Amino acid sequence: MLDEAVSFDEFLEEEGNDLVFLYESSKTPCPCTQNNVHGQYDRYWHQTNPAEPDCQGQGYFADVNQVNNKAFILPVDDVEEKTLPAGSYSKDDQIIYFSSSISLEGLVNVEYRGKVYELKNPDSYSIQNQDICQFGLLKLVKTHV
Ligand SMILES: [Zn+2]
Repeated sequence: MLDEAVSFDEFLEEEGNDLVFLYESSKTPCPCTQNNVHGQYDRYWHQTNPAEPDCQGQGYFADVNQVNNKAFILPVDDVEEKTLPAGSYSKDDQIIYFSSSISLEGLVNVEYRGKVYELKNPDSYSIQNQDICQFGLLKLVKTHV
C-alpha cells in the first residue's frame, strides 16, 4: 500500500465525519410478485390485500445492515466545480470522500446528520494504480431518518 492510502485512512479515522452506510441483504420476495406473470411489484395486489405488509413498490423485503463509517463530507458549494464528480447537483447535495476499503456492494443509502442520502456516481481516486480513496455525490433522499 502506498503511504498516501494509509495516511488518508488515518486522517479519516481522526478527522472524518461519522455516518452510517445502509446495506441490503437477503431479499425476500413480496407476495404481490407471485400474483402476476412478470413476477414484479403489483400495486393492485396491495390494494386488494391492505392488511399485508407494504413492500413500498420494491416487490421484495430486504434486511438492512447498518455499518458505521467515517467519511469526509463537503457541501457541493464548497467544492471546486472542476473537481466535482459527474452529474447534476442541487444545493442539498454533498460530496463524500471515503476509504477505498469500503465495499459498495448492496449499498442502498447513507445516513448523515439525521438525513438520508443516495450515493451517486461513485469513483475512486488512485495514484500509480493504487486506490487512495473513493468519492461520489450524496443526493438528498429524505430530510429525516
Ligand atoms: Zn409488494
